Amino acid sequence: MRALDIIIKKRNGLELSDAEINFLINSYTNGEVPDYQMSAFTMAVFFRKLSRKELSALTATMLHSGNVLDFSNLPGVPVDKHSTGGVGDKISIPLAPAVAACGVLVPMISGRGLGHTGGTLDKLESIPGFSCRFSSEKLKKQIAEIGCCFGAANDEIAPADKKLYELRDVTGTVESIPLISSSIMSKKMAEGIKGLVLDVKYGSGAFMRDPKDAYELAQTMVEIGTSMGTTTVARLTSMEQPIGNMIGHTLEIIESIEVLKNNGPADTTALVIELGAEMLVLGNQADNIESGRSRIKQVLENGLALEKFIAVIKAQGGNTNIVNNYKLLPQAKNQIPLLAQTSGYITEMDTFDLGNACILLGGGRQKTTDTIDPAVGIEMKVRIGDYVKVGQPLCIIHSSGLGEKEASTLIQNALKINIESITPPPLFGPRITL
Ligand code: URA
Repeated sequence: MRALDIIIKKRNGLELSDAEINFLINSYTNGEVPDYQMSAFTMAVFFRKLSRKELSALTATMLHSGNVLDFSNLPGVPVDKHSTGGVGDKISIPLAPAVAACGVLVPMISGRGLGHTGGTLDKLESIPGFSCRFSSEKLKKQIAEIGCCFGAANDEIAPADKKLYELRDVTGTVESIPLISSSIMSKKMAEGIKGLVLDVKYGSGAFMRDPKDAYELAQTMVEIGTSMGTTTVARLTSMEQPIGNMIGHTLEIIESIEVLKNNGPADTTALVIELGAEMLVLGNQADNIESGRSRIKQVLENGLALEKFIAVIKAQGGNTNIVNNYKLLPQAKNQIPLLAQTSGYITEMDTFDLGNACILLGGGRQKTTDTIDPAVGIEMKVRIGDYVKVGQPLCIIHSSGLGEKEASTLIQNALKINIESITPPPLFGPRITL
C-alpha cells in the first residue's frame, strides 16, 4: 500500500477501506508517512468528508494507536467531559476537580490550543511547575490517589491524535466534522471512561458556527461513543460570546480558581453546574440532573472542589500558592484599556476574532514549533446586551508588547455597538443522547 494512492482515492471522493485507513494512520503515527502527505490527506477529508464506516475505522485506529487505560480495579466510575472548543473556554479546569470532589473518577486528557481557541493543557501549564506530561502508569496512580488528573495525548495515549491535532492546527483543517469527531472520541475513549459529556459549541467563536452543523457533530460523536461502549451525552451551548470575562492562559486560570471559590461569572459557573450534573449522573453519583446540580453547587460552596484542585496542582508539580496569590502566575507587562468609540448596546461579538486577537498578542501558535506567552490576553468588560457609554472600557488588553495595535483593531471591530437593545443569546441549546 502507498500513502499517495490513499490520498488520491480520498481526493477523488471514493470510500477508503478499513485496511487503508489503518495503514495510513499507523504509518503516520510511527513516522513513515511525512507531515506533508498527512496534510494533503486531512485537506482531502475536509472537502470530501468520511462515510460512517470510514469514520468508525479512523476513530478505532486512532484510539488503538496507543494504550487504552483501565480503571476497573478502582471503586468509582471514570467519566469525562470534552468541549469542541471555544474562546475563554476554561470549563474543564474547575469542572474536573468539582466532579472528582463528588466521587467520580476524572482521568482528563485534554488538548493544546487549536485554531483560534486556547487549550486546557497550555492554560494549566501557565501555573509554575505544573506538568501535564506523564506516563499512563503515573496517570493511573494519580487517579487512584486523588480521583482527578489532567493529562496530554502523548506517545502512549492517543499518539495519533497528538500528531494529527498539531498538524491540523497549522494546516487549515480543524473545522471538519469527521476530523473533530475522531480526534475527540479517540482520545477520550483511550481514557477507559464509561461515560462522556460533550459540550458542543455553536456560534461566532465555535468551529461549527451554524447550530445545525453543531447538532450534526454532536449526533455523530454520541453515535460513535455509544456504539463503542461509552455512554455519551451532548449539550449544545452558545459560543456567540466568550465564556466568562477572561481570554488568555493565566487570566483563565485566575477565573477558574474564582469559580472554584464560588465567586465566578454566572455563565461559567452555570456551565460547570450543568455539565457537572450530567457527569455525576453518568458516574452514578446522582440519581438525576437536579440532584447532580445540587451536589456540584455544594462542593463549590463548601470548598471541596477547590481543595481537590489544589491536590491536583500539587500532584502535577505546580505551585499551590497561586490559588491565594495570583501574582505568582506569569504577569503581562502592559494593561491597556480599550475604550468604546460610541454609546449604545453591545449587540454582537465576533468571538472568533476575539480569539485571534489573543493569538496576535502571543497567546497562541501560528506554527507547531511556536511557544505561547501565557501572560497575555483580554479581560472583557462587556457582554452582549450591555449598554456602554462612549469612553467606557470594552476590555483590558494584557500584553507584553507584541501585536498590541493589530489586536486592538481586531477587538474594536469585533464588538458591534447599536442604538437598539437586544436580548442576549441563550447559553444552553438542545441535549442530545441516543
Ligand atoms: N477538540 C479536539 O480535541 N479535537 C478537535 O479536533 C477539536 C476540538
